Amino acid sequence: MDSPEKPTSADEKQTRRRICTAGCGRPINVCLCNTLPSTPIRTTTDIVILHHPHERRHKLATVPLLSKCLLNCEIIVGRKLKYGQSKLLDSLHDRACENSNLPFRRALYLFPGSNALPFTEISRDNSSVDPVSMNELVLIVFDGTWKHAKEMMLASLSFLSSFAVQVCLDFDAKVDGGTIFDSDLILRKEPFAGCMSTMEAVARCLRVLEPNGIEIESRIIEVLRAMVSFQACFLKPMKPRQNSIKSTIAKNKKKENTASLG
Ligand SMILES: [Zn+2]
Repeated sequence: MDSPEKPTSADEKQTRRRICTAGCGRPINVCLCNTLPSTPIRTTTDIVILHHPHERRHKLATVPLLSKCLLNCEIIVGRKLKYGQSKLLDSLHDRACENSNLPFRRALYLFPGSNALPFTEISRDNSSVDPVSMNELVLIVFDGTWKHAKEMMLASLSFLSSFAVQVCLDFDAKVDGGTIFDSDLILRKEPFAGCMSTMEAVARCLRVLEPNGIEIESRIIEVLRAMVSFQACFLKPMKPRQNSIKSTIAKNKKKENTASLG
């Protein structure tokens, strides 16, 4: 006889589909409301994220959570940054192009490359950077797969390059995959070391840019860690090659058995 407490698979399916609409926006069985800050954190840096349309439905997308963590975080869904999408970016563009009286704000866009200024060089403690301008920063980030992010950055360049400087987190292209900081924060396979989820990248940047950066970084990383640990519970780890060969053999055997039963 079936135990009445045990949920049926239909119940389980329904639970999985229910969304925490008032809170984190995730399915309720992987709700992260407990780890989110009670009110979004106010930062001196304004963060603008270009969010690729494909990422909107991705269950491992970190941007929706990031916007719940940070007050000054603007998300633009699209494949290209251009004039007319964001009042903030438009004002930066206008100031740079028309020499207007709008207040000066330093803008940075995050993307690795040989022309990019390493993030460590724009540290608050670095005497070459005017401490006043550190309070007026705008950080622009591209959110998508590696390939999409590159396309988005290149498509946005004609607009961006008039007012923003390219910066990168320190990375090592020679070491394959992973982040140089914490291997347990990897959500998807990245092309080389130092590439990381948008949420982690923003956290690492704010550590350098914000007066209480270490605290902000650790609050964001805490949320990300909780998300990764849910992922570890719900998704099976990637199997090494030799195992996948074995499992293919096992599957084929199972198929044969099923066929003989039918
Ligand atoms: Zn929730």
